[in-house]
Parts: sequence; structure tokens; C-alpha cells
Amino acid sequence: MDYIGRFAPTPSGSLHIGSLLTAVASFLDARAHGGQWLVRMEDLDPPREVAGAADEILHTLEAFALHWDGAVIYQSRRHHTYRAALEDLYAQGLIYACTCSRKRIQSHGTKGADGTVYDVHCRHQAFRQPENLGKTPAYRIIVPDQTIAFHDALVGDYAQNLARDIGDFVLLRADGLWAYQLAVVVDDAAQGITHIVRGQDLLISTPRQIYLQGCLNAPTPHYAHLPLLTNRHGQKWSKQTRAAPLDLNRKTSLLRQVLTYLHLPAPIPDGDCAELLQWATLHWDLHHLPRTAINTENTLGTDISS
Ligand code: GLU
Ligand code: ZN
Repeated sequence: MDYIGRFAPTPSGSLHIGSLLTAVASFLDARAHGGQWLVRMEDLDPPREVAGAADEILHTLEAFALHWDGAVIYQSRRHHTYRAALEDLYAQGLIYACTCSRKRIQSHGTKGADGTVYDVHCRHQAFRQPENLGKTPAYRIIVPDQTIAFHDALVGDYAQNLARDIGDFVLLRADGLWAYQLAVVVDDAAQGITHIVRGQDLLISTPRQIYLQGCLNAPTPHYAHLPLLTNRHGQKWSKQTRAAPLDLNRKTSLLRQVLTYLHLPAPIPDGDCAELLQWATLHWDLHHLPRTAINTENTLGTDISS
């Protein structure tokens, strides 16, 4: 099978145990299929980025023997590609400029699956006359009143009605930042990604991405959304919940922990990271992964954040 997978970190800080789990699972699934594993830096949001974080992430992946194929792609260098995709969607009559204030959006919107569903107030505004709008607009895409369903290898069937659950969503923000939803679809297509293995926090975004793939004539990859790794309060490990950066002095034991979370405790006591990953590749089976959130406290008896 032709398999191209990827890991797409946002360089807003160091990798932590949760992002290591995503990296390892996407790596193992690719290698077990004899596929490629690409790395893409999702550095679209300069204010949220930390200087040196992208290089540090790559260094950490190498330290764990998570060797990627090909050159790393940086989203910060691909604005022209996102612009071209927006123009394509505009030519299809799917894009409009929105000048609503956050306050207006909140007060006129309804509650959706991922925040407020926008009330389509600005749908009548044309794309290319921002100078007539009085202020810099955001650009939204019109979504259909139709159910978008897909089968996730881990979660099972999942569906959303974009009009009801999400609403017309922003592809280019008024401050000039490209939305993750557009960039990820454009880049997954450009890199020929066939399989996406990522955290369940992104499941809610997948119907939007499948919709954009359809509009941009891009294939829909296979999806597997991994259970989240949570702390003792049941919160996802992230920068916000103060997940500790990975300690490279403990890399083999951290990798063993992650493999244990993935139901692959490695029975090779002296293995280094490369050997552990090699063993795990041979024993990898997506269908044996846990399906629900993995609490690091329950699994280990200790909270690895502190
Ligand atoms: N950059 C996203 C994140 O770090 C992941 C995007 C994706 O895998 O689609 O959460
Ligand atoms: Zn508006």
C-alpha cells in the first residue's frame, strides 16, 4: 500500500508526553505499513511561537530516533499556497468577507459544537472590495446544510452538519493569519498524505477539513484520532496544563511509558529508542490501541508533570 503519514506539531513550545504519544503513534502506523512519515511545522501564528521551538522539536524527534522522511515543511513559508486555495474557493462563490465584531458574532450566533455558529450576516459581501468595507475583513467559507460523515479507524463513525454545528468558518482572519483548517487541508494535499493519525481533540475539526478537501478537489485521507493523554484532573496534557518538556536524559523510559499507553509494553529491557521503535513497529496494531482517554496518573501511579 502507498502510505504517507505525518506529524504536524505547532512550535508554541517544547514537545511533551502528549505530543510524543502522537508522534510515536503516527510514526509506528506509517512504518508498520512500510510507509513514509513526514514532519510539518505548523508555524502559522507568530505571536504564539517560541523562538527556537521548531528546531528544538526536530532535535527531540531525532533524539527519540523518530527519523522522518524528506524535508520538513514550514507553513510560515507557504502563504502563497493558502492564498491560491482561497482564490480558488472564491472563484467558486464560496468565500465572503466578514466585518462583524466579535461582540456581534457572539450576540447573534447560536451555540455550536466548536464555539459560536455565525449567523451568516455578511454572506452578501463580495470578496475583493475590502476598501469599501471600512475595515479589514476576515474571510469565511459558506458551508452546506448537509451531514458530513466519515469512519475513523479508532473512534468509529463520526458526523457533523456543518451549517448547524459549525457555521460558515473563517479561513483568513482579519489580522492576516491563515486558519489552521485551510492550511492543514492544503498541506495534507500538497504532501500527498494518505493517513492522518492525530489527537482526538482534532476530531471536531475533521468534517470541516473533509468539506474543504471536497471543495479543493483534494482526496480525503484515512483518519485515526488517538485517545488523549490526560492529567489527574482529566485534562488534556498540553502547554496550558503545564505538561513538562521531555527530559532527554530519560528518553528510553519516556518512550517505554508512551508505548505502554499504546498497549505495547516493550519486553526488551536494554533497548535504546531505535530498538524500542523497531520492536513496536513489528507489533503495531492500530486496533489494539486504547479507545478512551489515557490518564497518566492511573497508568503510572505518579503524575509525570510534577
Ligand atoms: N498542529 C496541530 C497541533 O499541534 C496538529 C494538526 C494536525 O495534526 O492536523 O495540534
Ligand atoms: Zn460578518
